[in-house]
Amino acid sequence: MKPYDLIVIGGGAAGFFGAIQAAENRKDLRVLILEKTTKLLAKVKVSGGGRCNVTHHCFTPAALSHHYPRGQKQLKNLFYQFSAADTVSWFEKHGVQLKTEADGRMFPVTDNSQTIIDCFLKAANEHAVEIKTGMEVKKISRALNQFVVHCGHEEYQADKILITTGGYNKPENYQWLVDLGHELVPPIPSLFTFNDPSKEFVELMGITVPKAEVRIAGTKFLQTGAVLITHWGLSGPAVIKLSAWAAEYLHQQNYRFTALVNWTGLPELQVRETLMQLKLLSGKKGIVTSPQFDLPRRLWEFLCAKSEIEPGRAWSEIPNKHINKLIEFVYACPFDIQGKTTFKEEFVTCGGIALSDIDLKTMESKKVPGLFFAGEVLNVDGETGGFNFQAAWTTAWVAANTIRIKAGT
Ligand SMILES: Cc1cc2nc3c(=O)[nH]c(=O)nc-3n(C[C@H](O)[C@H](O)[C@H](O)COP(=O)(O)OP(=O)(O)OC[C@H]3O[C@@H](n4cnc5c(N)ncnc54)[C@H](O)[C@@H]3O)c2cc1C
Repeated sequence: MKPYDLIVIGGGAAGFFGAIQAAENRKDLRVLILEKTTKLLAKVKVSGGGRCNVTHHCFTPAALSHHYPRGQKQLKNLFYQFSAADTVSWFEKHGVQLKTEADGRMFPVTDNSQTIIDCFLKAANEHAVEIKTGMEVKKISRALNQFVVHCGHEEYQADKILITTGGYNKPENYQWLVDLGHELVPPIPSLFTFNDPSKEFVELMGITVPKAEVRIAGTKFLQTGAVLITHWGLSGPAVIKLSAWAAEYLHQQNYRFTALVNWTGLPELQVRETLMQLKLLSGKKGIVTSPQFDLPRRLWEFLCAKSEIEPGRAWSEIPNKHINKLIEFVYACPFDIQGKTTFKEEFVTCGGIALSDIDLKTMESKKVPGLFFAGEVLNVDGETGGFNFQAAWTTAWVAANTIRIKAGT
């Protein structure tokens, strides 16, 4: 049987985007997608709580790259080839309108991930991209200048291969790629929330503080944004961002560490000056009944109680010792974190095939010419907010474009 021009391994986000782009670029290409499971685009379906956060309204390559703890420098150059603005145009050209939410996340106007799936399936069909499911690739070999792709009893041949198998949590799942000579950066989770089994703060569950700052004690890891107190500990954008930037450190600590929450997001000196001034100027006013820094009343009362400030006491009556405690709990409220919980809206793998093994202008393997990589299989991952799909679209687009140029050579 005539070999395929391109076999894409993995029928997920990067796989479909790459296959469609390659087939659109060169109408004469024979393209095949091999998918391990019986479900195509399974993660796209569940993504963004079923709405698919396709990308982020961040249209400058340099600014966009700052949202990637792994791959920042390399992605910046790739975003000059295919940016978030190009993603918006690509989907528009394929009949999908995106909208931007207040925090910059972009979704299809239908608020339904099926819109993206339908778009991909239609485009793949129009360009005669073949799709085979239930085909787990276990090995790639070479014969007579062709790649031979082995899936159980089936074998397929192709000129070019695009690997888009996504992230795995076990290193052994990458073995067939390592056997081809690629280095693996051991995979660990990114994008998770923090567990505080002490349940000390559980009565505050449901409270969100919009402009907080979360730090990891004894390190420089720090993120700002909304913090949510949950029944298991801490969540919210600031915490999830922090989990991404500190993913490797937190893994080394076996997810046991102290998280310090500054509920105000303000410098310590400003917190101190504000509270000391109140003691001087609002002497007779009740302290527990006058929340500061726009903090939710329940949280303020709780922090006062932790600082041993009794209800009914006036500012002037409180000894400095207790004001100092309050300053500490407002500025650096400690949470004894023992473990993590997967963030159900979006989670990704930190680690994967080392970027040093990839030509980052083309996405071609430096170890195996003709073999390309895109998406989460690489040691690239972003914050939550549409950045992970953007990395998949960009890397797949660049690979497909190189394949167009090289096809037939
Ligand atoms: C619950 C959840 C929600 C998310 N929401 C968002 C979001 O809204 N926005 C965002 O930017 N990111 C989101 N992400 C992250 C995003 O889904 C991934 O980063 C993205 O799907 C990566 O695309 P990919 O094509 O590289 O991998 P995947 O989409 O994981 O696709 C890989 C495919 O390869 C197949 N495969 C694996 N091994 C083989 C093999 N050996 N042979 C054949 N096939 C194989 C897999 O079955 C899979 O279908 C979310 C992730 C999760 C888990």
